[in-house]
Amino acid sequence: MSHLFYQGRGRKPVLDQARGVYMWDKDGKRYLDGSSGAMVCNIGHSNPNVLAAMRQQMEKSTFGYRLHFETEASEKLAARLAALSPKGLNKVFFVSGGSEAVESALKVARQYMKAVGQGSRWKVISRQPSYHGSTLGALAVTGYEPLSAPFEPMMRQMPKIPAPRAYLDGLNPNDLETGRYYAHMLAAKIDEEGPESVMAFIVEPIGGASTGALVPPVGYMERIREICDEYGILMIADEVMTGAGRTGRFLGSDHWSARPDILVMSKGIGSGYVPLGAMIADDHLVEAVLDAGGFAHGYTYAGNPLACAAGLAVVEEIESQGLCANATRIGEKLLARLHGLMQKHDMIGDVRGKGLLTAFELMADRDKKTPLPKEWNAYQRVVDIAYEKGLIVYSRRTRDGIEGDHILVCPPLITSDTNLDEIIEGLDASLT
Ligand code: PMP
Repeated sequence: MSHLFYQGRGRKPVLDQARGVYMWDKDGKRYLDGSSGAMVCNIGHSNPNVLAAMRQQMEKSTFGYRLHFETEASEKLAARLAALSPKGLNKVFFVSGGSEAVESALKVARQYMKAVGQGSRWKVISRQPSYHGSTLGALAVTGYEPLSAPFEPMMRQMPKIPAPRAYLDGLNPNDLETGRYYAHMLAAKIDEEGPESVMAFIVEPIGGASTGALVPPVGYMERIREICDEYGILMIADEVMTGAGRTGRFLGSDHWSARPDILVMSKGIGSGYVPLGAMIADDHLVEAVLDAGGFAHGYTYAGNPLACAAGLAVVEEIESQGLCANATRIGEKLLARLHGLMQKHDMIGDVRGKGLLTAFELMADRDKKTPLPKEWNAYQRVVDIAYEKGLIVYSRRTRDGIEGDHILVCPPLITSDTNLDEIIEGLDASLT
């Protein structure tokens, strides 16, 4: 009998070792980690430079409480992340995961509004479907019914606008009008809610688990930024999945000129070595909160030296190994190869993504975009068959969290051409 439980009782093989893009269970079976865990292990498993940096830090100190000590590791990582963030976003608040980072962004936004005499603003508009985390605050801005419904009325749902799924609405994502059309939904929602009550809009630059690597239409993010400015609301970029090189740039936001006021990262910044996340905010916003008496929020493990030393080594690895460029190069090939699979397997209705945040969606009818019957559990079957064959891919239901089968193919940023061949062969065999 096991004493562990997660979502359910299902048991998995026991992990033994992991190196680069591969993992081995206790029976010696090898798996290619085609999802980097859950889009976490961006630089691959057991990187010797990161392990050495962690060992070095462990020999010095592993914990110093933030109210007692500053640490060199946290100062250095904060400086590095500020340098890699859009201009003006210079204040870094460390946390231990994505939900904590989102929670922190919502709270700093609220305190900012109060500090500048706009205390009537508290609503955060987000998108349907979307995923921003599992804590009650992060869940309130998450557009994914199956995860939020069990907890009502403990948590309240924040207002949602539709995610821009041009491929389902028969619109051209390369047409500026399409981007403007979807962005306008934000303006309409703010008007409906009452502009004086709206504090922020939270958005994943490229959709992750909820929408399956959904790249926004041309002009969408820029128009969103303009609307936030017009109404005086904050733009929060949730880069928990898109950050740390996943999309071929250090940040997903780097693909557009739309600069967020606050961004949050996690997953790839700890790359599976440590639990680590960060909320990075505009100077003037944080200064206003600190001037007004301070940020009433924090976590015990925030900015611990071991997590920060590992995070710093991860960033150094992404930069020194040119991993953003590799994600772009392999990601383009991966998209082309997935389109190749689409020719062969009618079941694939759409292929999308950027860098190594890529996905394909299974459909009953590609032209009509009809989903497969829910009870088929097609996405789970493909994932399970691939797992049997030693290929790990990630999936969730898209289409408002109820139907729609997408499969995310997001291997580590160190993926080689040979690894890519193996991924495509595994997917082809699994789909067949
Ligand atoms: N935001 C996004 C975009 C995510 O993908 C996730 C995790 N899948 C989270 C927030 C929550 O992160 P965590 O599970 O580390 O709390």
